[in-house]
Order: sequence, then C-alpha cells, then structure tokens
Amino acid sequence: MTDTAPDLDRLRGAAPPRNHDARTIAALTSNPGCARRGVMDAAGVDKDAVARELGFPAPFGQSQFAITRGNAFEAQVKADGCAELLTLLRDRLGLDVPEVAYDDLEVVAGNEGRELRHSRTRRLLGRALETGEGTLFDHPLLRLEIAGRPAYLEPDVIAFQLAGRLHVVEIKSFAVVDGQAEPEQVAAAARQSAVYVLALRRLVTELGHDPGRVSHEVFLVCPENFSNRPSATPLDVRPQLAVLERQLARLTRVDAILAELPADLTFEPGEALAESVRAVEARYAPECMAGCEMALFCRDEARACGETGALGRSVRDDLGGVDTIGTALGLADGSLTPSDDLAETAEQLRAAARLRAEALSGALSGALSGAA
Ligand code: SF4
Repeated sequence: MTDTAPDLDRLRGAAPPRNHDARTIAALTSNPGCARRGVMDAAGVDKDAVARELGFPAPFGQSQFAITRGNAFEAQVKADGCAELLTLLRDRLGLDVPEVAYDDLEVVAGNEGRELRHSRTRRLLGRALETGEGTLFDHPLLRLEIAGRPAYLEPDVIAFQLAGRLHVVEIKSFAVVDGQAEPEQVAAAARQSAVYVLALRRLVTELGHDPGRVSHEVFLVCPENFSNRPSATPLDVRPQLAVLERQLARLTRVDAILAELPADLTFEPGEALAESVRAVEARYAPECMAGCEMALFCRDEARACGETGALGRSVRDDLGGVDTIGTALGLADGSLTPSDDLAETAEQLRAAARLRAEALSGALSGALSGAA
C-alpha cells in the first residue's frame, strides 16, 4: 500500500474497487493529460456507474448478445484444460508443445482476494521460469505501476509457457474471415495484448529474470469464417509496446493530482457528485467518445465552457495556451488584446480570420457576377 491509498479509498466511497484491465489502461494512456480519468482510475472508481448517476451513461459498450457470444467462445476454447487451444497451437501453428499442465489462477482455494491471487500468480510463474514446470496459466492477476501507483490488472488471457518463454494468448470473439479480420479490432487487440506483455515483463523482472523471457509475439485466437471453429494468429506487438511505455511515462503522478484536490472530495452517489467530478480537471477531446465512460459528461462540460478541446485535440494543440473558443474568436477579430505569451498565436489567428474573410468575399463576388 502507498501513502495515497487512504485518499483513493475515500474518493471511491463505499463501492468496491474495480480492477484495471487492458482496455482501461490502453484508454488511459491515450489521454495522459486528463487528471480526472487518472484519479478515478487510480481509485478504482466505477466510472460507468458514476456516468449513469450523473445522467450521462457511457456512449459505448458491448451488446448482451456479443458478450454472451464472446463468453461462449472463450469457454469452448478453454474447455477440458484448453484442449482446443492446444490442438490449435500444435497442429495449426506447428508448435512443439510437450506434456501440458493447466493452472487457473482466478480463484485461490475459494478466495478471490487480489493480494492472494497476485501472490499465487507470482509463485507459479516464478516456478515456471525456474524449472519449466507449467504450461498454461489462466487468469493471472498482474500488477502494473500506473501514474506512480501499483494497479491490479485483471487479464482475461492465458500466459503460455513454451521453451522457457512466456507468451500471451488472447481470445477474442470477432471473426477472422478468409484469414482477414477487421483492422480496427486487430489493432485494439494488439494494444490490449501489449499491456499484458508489459505487465508480465515487469513481473518477470521483479522475480529476477530477463524480461525478454516474455515474448513480444502474442497469439490471437478468434472464430474462423463465422463458425465457432477457433483459429490462432501470431501477432507482433513491439510497436504497441513502445507507444504504451512512452505514454505510461507521460501520465501525471496521482499523488501530485491528489495534492491539489479538496481534502473531503468523494465520488459517492448523491447531489454533490457532479460538483465533485468537476473539481478534478479534465482534458476532453472527441477521441474520449471511443474509450472513456465519462465522455458524454465531459463533452457537455467542455461545450458549456466553450473549451477548444471540444473541437479536437489538434485544434487545442494548435491554439496552445488559448483555452476557450470565445478567447480565440476575440483574439482573431482584435477585440481582445493578447498577453505577451499569446502574441504569436493571436497574430496567426488574425491572419486566419483575414484569409477567411477574403475567401468568403471572393466567393460571394464570384457568385454575384455569375448570376448577373
Ligand atoms: S472523457 Fe473526461 S474523464 Fe474521460 S479521458 Fe476524456 S476528459 Fe478525461
């Protein structure tokens, strides 16, 4: 536990903490400057529940049908100690998988406590690296330092040991048709797998081994040609790993964010919830709509304040230092006098306004002469 833990527990209130998963970490690193998301995730706050309580339910989520289908496919691949998975790895990928042992790390002697599950994961993976014992480790509970604080990571994957190296096996329910899958879905799976590879590498390093013993090659298992027949594809996640490590290093430290917040702040449901959420600075951009449960609330807030970020991250970056659309318009038409640090931006805005006016008047006179 760290010193910030009591503050984070208070923020969450009576609700139990939610574990991170690869999707939440991939989304967190896609907006590293957002203190609101950083602190809510660090505290294990159920953002989906908070967004619903605020009247802005998350704009995405899998349908019940897709969830049921995905669960059924995963159960099929893992049935009988992962019999289908082993057939795939041996016959389709030609891997020389010797005698197999399967360990499910989801529950330890009826206990689902995170500490216990994590220490069992460490013990079994440590033994596998030392002695080569064990082949398939299902639901390992990993830990990864996020913004200066360790976060539990609940991977829905299997760690597969082959010839002294660990590979991540990720089971997804999207179809591979004629050897091709939706590029966006494959890219998302690669980003998520990279999170697991990184967390496994950190664990392997803590255990005193070479992190290179966790392979950058993961195995993606998907249904083939709209059937339930699984197919396996090796995926190199080195590019995603490089991006992930860079973005994790850019996250603002949670203790620095907490130091700026009111001492009694909490995200407990109730009348003060919206005010509490607004007390933590956000950095909304339209990209949030695809990855953060709070997106509709933050978009509403950003629009109400006229934030430049509501128009897109590139607009905010281009207007560096100009926080609102009103200020940008005022600088462009000269009704606002810029401070010294905004003089150059103001000059560019005035030039853009001039060009726009010239283009519009040119188009108008062209239309009038054409009509005459
Ligand atoms: S939706 Fe809001 S909380 Fe989530 S990342 Fe975007 S700005 Fe941050």
